[in-house]
Amino acid sequence: MGKERYDFLIVGAGLFGSTFARIASDRGYRCLVAERREVAGGNIRCEEIAGINVHRYGAHIFHTSDERVWAFVNRYAKFNRFTNSPVARYGDRMYNLPFNMNTFYQLWGCKTPAEAKAKLDDERREASVRLKAAGSERPRNLEEQALSLVGRDIYEKLIKGYTEKQWGRRCDELPAFIIKRLPVRMTYDNNYFSDLYQGIPEGGYNPLIERLLEGAEVRLGCDYFGERSELEGIADKIVFTGKIDQYYGYRFGRLAYRSVRFEDEVLDIPNYQGVAVVNYTEREPAWTRIIEHKHFESFGDAVYENGRTVISREYPTEWHEGIEPFYPVNDERNMKLYAQYKQLADGERNVFFGGRLAEYKYYDMAPVIASAMDMADRIAPQK
Ligand code: UDP
Repeated sequence: MGKERYDFLIVGAGLFGSTFARIASDRGYRCLVAERREVAGGNIRCEEIAGINVHRYGAHIFHTSDERVWAFVNRYAKFNRFTNSPVARYGDRMYNLPFNMNTFYQLWGCKTPAEAKAKLDDERREASVRLKAAGSERPRNLEEQALSLVGRDIYEKLIKGYTEKQWGRRCDELPAFIIKRLPVRMTYDNNYFSDLYQGIPEGGYNPLIERLLEGAEVRLGCDYFGERSELEGIADKIVFTGKIDQYYGYRFGRLAYRSVRFEDEVLDIPNYQGVAVVNYTEREPAWTRIIEHKHFESFGDAVYENGRTVISREYPTEWHEGIEPFYPVNDERNMKLYAQYKQLADGERNVFFGGRLAEYKYYDMAPVIASAMDMADRIAPQK
């Protein structure tokens, strides 16, 4: 390693690190990005299989209402018109998501918003009586949140099994906010997201990441923890996007993360499930969802241009050393632990923590970018 000096050492070439690197480099700061893996992109990385961009670490669908973020990503990628409309499979029946008029018709035969509202009010009554009896104003966990949002029928068919598989914990031990991501709509609208803008970058996420990293020096296969002594002192400031508990040598204990194992299949048929995402909401099978990747980038008749298709079954598991962390588990125990690490982080003068792993936060892509932009404005301002 030469004697070169950098303004920033950015640990991790995921979306946070790459966004920060791009903005800081554009402003004339010298950036070194150290990435443990042999490839950049973190968990938005794609891999081409059978001519199809496979979302290697699970479906990544870009959606935002933030004009600043949308303008930013559009400088580096062209987004297609993909709209996420996942379907839930419970036993042999299929239900549209998010919970909307199609779902209420499929479940209960409700044809108008008034019919659906009456049924939902009925379904929610049990939860509000129970909350009152418990003397609490607000749902205290995911189960209570789900019951008061949609009632028992939807909770048991479309939420409970899926959520317990996904998080490996009981719904009454999980934080309510996880489920607040799911909208309830009184319209026939299967668009999972309520954002103004949505899409997948044409050609997948890898070109976007490459463009974000232009202008920075990138070292792949460079594990910060293995090369800490060499890397320390190479830059004035560190932007750290890895696991915050690992940064501090796990001194207070380990934060829990969920991971996901993928089983891919290449099939000699052009169209397996007719949609990108099918959620399996019963306890069995053990996978939570099947992703059919071609539907992210081809629509209508174009689906048949490639006679093959790639599907991935997702099996959530608890994270352990040697596999990739995906989701923070923001339950009480872990949030207390995180607060201890956060206190150390807040006391740092030249180390800054950002992204899902370093902030222990269940971030989507757009908020990650917004947060990296904000950090850049703070610590790498326009000169
Ligand atoms: N969820 C559910 N049933 C579904 C889809 C989602 O109960 O069919 C719940 C589940 O608790 C999940 C949360 O909603 O963890 C958020 O789901 P989303 O699909 O937004 O999560 P991600 O794509 O980030 O895994």
